[in-house]
Amino acid sequence: MSRITSDILATRPIERSLYVYSRELLNDRLNHLKSVFPAGTNHAVAIKSNSHPEVLAEITQQGCGLEAASYEEVLLAAQANCPFDKIVFDSPVKTVQEIESCAKNYPGMTINANCFEELNRLKGMMEVNVGIRINPLVDIESPGIYNVSHTGSKFGIPISQRSEIVQYALKMDNVSGLHIHAGSEIGSRVNHIKAISSVVQIAEEIASKGKKLEFIDIGGGISASLEGLESFFQALIAHSPEILNYQIITEYGRFVQTHCAFVISKVEYLLSRSETDIALIHVGADLFPREIYSSAPPHHDYLVINQEGQLKLGNEKKYDIGGPLCFSGDFLKRGIELPEIDAGDFIIITDAGANSLSMWSSHCSREEVEVKIL
Ligand SMILES: *Cc1c(COP(=O)(O)O)cnc(C)c1O
Repeated sequence: MSRITSDILATRPIERSLYVYSRELLNDRLNHLKSVFPAGTNHAVAIKSNSHPEVLAEITQQGCGLEAASYEEVLLAAQANCPFDKIVFDSPVKTVQEIESCAKNYPGMTINANCFEELNRLKGMMEVNVGIRINPLVDIESPGIYNVSHTGSKFGIPISQRSEIVQYALKMDNVSGLHIHAGSEIGSRVNHIKAISSVVQIAEEIASKGKKLEFIDIGGGISASLEGLESFFQALIAHSPEILNYQIITEYGRFVQTHCAFVISKVEYLLSRSETDIALIHVGADLFPREIYSSAPPHHDYLVINQEGQLKLGNEKKYDIGGPLCFSGDFLKRGIELPEIDAGDFIIITDAGANSLSMWSSHCSREEVEVKIL
């Protein structure tokens, strides 16, 4: 990263911040997904985790699909040349008009219905493949704000309504799959596998009653660690081999995107304070809302780079890293040990690929961070 940064600084100054995204790292992740899952799996990467048009275009060029959390994201998927049969639309509030224009303009795409009321709106729409989103009611041990598998969740039809789910799947000709996305940052692999398996069992019940569904969409929710995915999938098929009777769809966001980007931001001022000096940089709650507003802030490493782009090492002191926004909570980090910082240095913030650029907040109306795709 410091090499990339010094190359960039050699050609142009960074006045505020630069968001640097690596296609190579994205491709490593997509190749890993392809190597772990059976051929024919649709890896529909969650657009909400990173919606940059060039990133989406790269994903579709690599043969992967896109998962849309809103109608606007369906449009982004189409603009990225995603084949319609690889677009998966998952909003909980799809309007009649949105559903109709999906059927008209993107035939072959998949719409996962969030509730019976939405399924009723989808009746007779043979142009689209319909999945039924199921809430497995299993504690997958996600941080509260990312956990969607409890009784108060707004996502999916509770699995306790299994017999109605089976009836709907049998009577609606366009229902061709089942969907589950149990939460993000899932902490319990065992319960995650149980949750998916419970959905596979419903598909098997539907098959035993005479209708073979086409797909099981297992959603996202795996953390960014590369070691986790292969053993997760092996454990899943050991527990629930019937899943291999269906096309699998995945919707990974954080797993694909987290490590693909970092941010370089200039230390505009170094405020000397009696307890801890404060380094003021040009990104805060605007680029990193989850870090500042949420109860489960994601992890980042912080590095210090001098004005020539060289990595500073040793000589550590405690700093608070403050953002540019005009409210007192706008601190990315408090009390972090870093090599001595001078005004004019740069802070690198790693692992900024997921849920940062796509969450840009215009509070304080600052210009959106500049992006460089390598
Ligand atoms: C957010 C979301 C995802 C992606 O979740 P990650 O934890 O980033 O993998 C996938 N599917 C749905 C329905 C989502 O809401």
